[in-house]
Amino acid sequence: MEYIISIIVILILLFVIIYFNLQRKLGESNHQFDLPHVSPSKKVILIIIDSLMDKPLQSALKEGEAPALQFLINNGRYYPSMVSSYPTMSVTIDSTLLTGTYADKHKVPALVWYDEHKKRFISYGSDKREILKLGAKQVFEESMFHLNEQHLSDQVKTIHEEIDEKGLQSASINTLVFRGNKTQILHVPKLLKVFHFLNKNDSVKAPSYFSYGILSKLNPKNRYTNFWQGFGFNDKYATEELKYLIEQDRVPSFSLVYFSDNDKKVHKKGVNETKGIEEADKRLQTLFNQYATWEKALKDNVWIVMGDSGQTSIVNDKERALVDLRKVLKDYQIHKISKPIQKQDQIVLGLNERMSFIYILDESIKHEFIAKQLQKEKRIDITAWKEGNTVKVLSGDKRGVFSFQQTGEFSDQYGQSWKIEGNTQILDITIKNGHSIVYGDYPDALARLYSSFYSHTGNFLVVNTKPGFEFIGEGSPKHVGGASHGSLHKQDTYFPMIVTGTELEPKHLRMVDVKEWILHILNE
Ligand SMILES: [Zn+2]
Repeated sequence: MEYIISIIVILILLFVIIYFNLQRKLGESNHQFDLPHVSPSKKVILIIIDSLMDKPLQSALKEGEAPALQFLINNGRYYPSMVSSYPTMSVTIDSTLLTGTYADKHKVPALVWYDEHKKRFISYGSDKREILKLGAKQVFEESMFHLNEQHLSDQVKTIHEEIDEKGLQSASINTLVFRGNKTQILHVPKLLKVFHFLNKNDSVKAPSYFSYGILSKLNPKNRYTNFWQGFGFNDKYATEELKYLIEQDRVPSFSLVYFSDNDKKVHKKGVNETKGIEEADKRLQTLFNQYATWEKALKDNVWIVMGDSGQTSIVNDKERALVDLRKVLKDYQIHKISKPIQKQDQIVLGLNERMSFIYILDESIKHEFIAKQLQKEKRIDITAWKEGNTVKVLSGDKRGVFSFQQTGEFSDQYGQSWKIEGNTQILDITIKNGHSIVYGDYPDALARLYSSFYSHTGNFLVVNTKPGFEFIGEGSPKHVGGASHGSLHKQDTYFPMIVTGTELEPKHLRMVDVKEWILHILNE
């Protein structure tokens, strides 16, 4: 009898093993690689290390803690001060990188903003508490679908779309903005199906090789997708994905890989933190080690490694560090983000760390009046609003008004022409030779600020904090004693870039010029 039971147990075990193996195999079958195998003549790999900055990078290099980055610098060129877009928040910057335009054209205003047509408060996910208030499903839908399908303008083309039109292929690994020409069916985990976040066969338009955490994997065996690993939104996962393309000899013409871990470390520990850079360097080493030698890795690809924005220290004193706009504007009825817009709401706040949109719903309230009120708060830097075609700017500590509009007798180093009036010190602008604009603390200030007012419609002001401080409101993140970004200031704006394998240079050292430059490299 016992003998028979043992046989049955063994048979059941065997069945279970075969069944699960089969399931795994089925799960592994990957539609991505139904793609034709092409060997591009030129391959550009662009790795973004979120919030990579020149100063901590230099310390990591000096300590010998970043050998892979050092190797790239020794064999290429280093640009310490590339100019980001505005506001200095990842989704807006990614959209600029992908489309080669500022927010006036790509229409992704910020991480958090307000859509006046749909009367919707929009966030692609800025903080856990905010996500709880808005509902996880809503935030998920905004970032997964609305950001790429509705908000990112169809009047501009992404680099993925242009590369596809040339008959070439590209890869997007873990970037939030990814629009491409190929329909990619998402892998839907059971939990998301149960809570109706996604349905079976839900799809997005993305590039040929599309990696997006657990929802779309290139390497079916990529293990770094547990919930404590952000479902795949981590550097180890991203590295594993590119490594897989290298192993399979599938590196396409252009690969964009997003390393997000460094940003969190800098937010928490401050602007001198080097741990995130050292870890990102280890990931790079893993990638280089896929080749017979590191030199071979360079020979096979053009490597571009860069940050996306800077960060600014936030003072280590809660009372001073956090500028609560609900208190500054306490005389008004401010929209509560957990509820839809109410009839009596006069103001909506769109907080983006060191930058904020202030939307005026009550038409009887004048911009200038709000701006003057904001000016009284000493930790607030520049405040701007639009009147007709003119953008007006006030400063927390400089007198008067500065106003500007597109096209005029002044021109800047980027070949943009402006009509300007008033106190140029407000935007730290110097005029040379009677008509040349030279930027100081606010790089490419006019085009970047201007772009914000044409990134979406609505009746709003744009406000920035001075270095040392950040805005808070309902459910927004706090970085007391750490660092934060979002503003127009150079500390939030500059990021470094390392390039190997090409002599071509971008037209200007700005994020907005990177797309055209990469397309040139591919055409070379
Ligand atoms: Zn950040």
